Amino acid sequence: MNRPAEFRRLILAWYRKHQRRLPWRENPSLYQTVVSEFMLQQTQVKTALGHFERWLERFPDFDALAEAPEAEVLKHWEGLGYYNRARNLHRLAKAVAVMDPIPRTPEAWQSLPGVGPYTSAAITSIAFGARAACVDGNVVRILSRIQADDTQYRDSTAAAAACASLAEELLDPDNPGDHNQAMMELGATVCSRRRPLCAACPVVTFCRAAETGNPEAFPRFVSKKIEKQEVTRLWCRRGDSLLLYKSAAGSRRLAELYELPQPAHLGLPNAISEGLGPPLARKVRHITRFRISETIYAYPAKHLKLPANKNGLEWVSGERLDRITLSGPHRRWVRELLAEEGSAAR
Ligand code: SF4
Repeated sequence: MNRPAEFRRLILAWYRKHQRRLPWRENPSLYQTVVSEFMLQQTQVKTALGHFERWLERFPDFDALAEAPEAEVLKHWEGLGYYNRARNLHRLAKAVAVMDPIPRTPEAWQSLPGVGPYTSAAITSIAFGARAACVDGNVVRILSRIQADDTQYRDSTAAAAACASLAEELLDPDNPGDHNQAMMELGATVCSRRRPLCAACPVVTFCRAAETGNPEAFPRFVSKKIEKQEVTRLWCRRGDSLLLYKSAAGSRRLAELYELPQPAHLGLPNAISEGLGPPLARKVRHITRFRISETIYAYPAKHLKLPANKNGLEWVSGERLDRITLSGPHRRWVRELLAEEGSAAR
């Protein structure tokens, strides 16, 4: 690219003037940077904001997090989803708590749990001034637009690999942490996926996609086939208790987390919806390339024949419900259904 120094100067000046005030930027520390980067890996800033300060109150530093029981760590992560991030963050805290000195290079950080190329570059550039460029989805979007790169990428990993050398070339060697944050901030607030605000962009004079008049056309990806899945869930009450399913400790994604049971958990066929009346709720969510439609039916406790080994099923009292950790959106669903029950009873 021509004039990389000018690009750096413009984006840094823009960032210093327009950056959002975020709690992890107020009094930055290594620990706060690590926590915020883990939270932001697959979660939007507005969702992370609600959790970050509560997290710091309970786990103010690596030592406090390292010493906490995993169940409590997961409970504090509830609402952020993708719980493996919380497990990895917990393992990372245990490792860092006994390190002396704490490593400062991206390569060393990549040996820690849950830390890949992007996260190691973000953490070490922000906390230690390491000269490592971050290439996340926001940066890919900016760089592919700057070049009007019309390569059709298989996925975001392939696009990030293709953008890596330009990202390194543009990195500000004197301010790598701020430069990385400036790029990500520009992608999050100005160079958005839909309707980028090119008139407000500090690097518009570098941007070939803006010249084409259709910057949204970049980056280009092979369209993914969306797979549809149908899931039935059961809402089964006994007094003030709710029947929930707890995944086994060895489960890869959901270990020790609770959710509304599926018919198979109760030894029932999945076509159990017949005879149960209209659904209480229908929910749709998207996870990677899956579109998952979940339908929740009331299932009378009197029909229930719990298997002798309980098979992960538990009656959870109203008082205990707040203390357990529910996976994904199940906390919200349970709250909504309890509220509906409450208003129906009035
Ligand atoms: S000019 Fe527009 S498309 Fe180009 S980088 Fe800036 S916001 Fe993105």
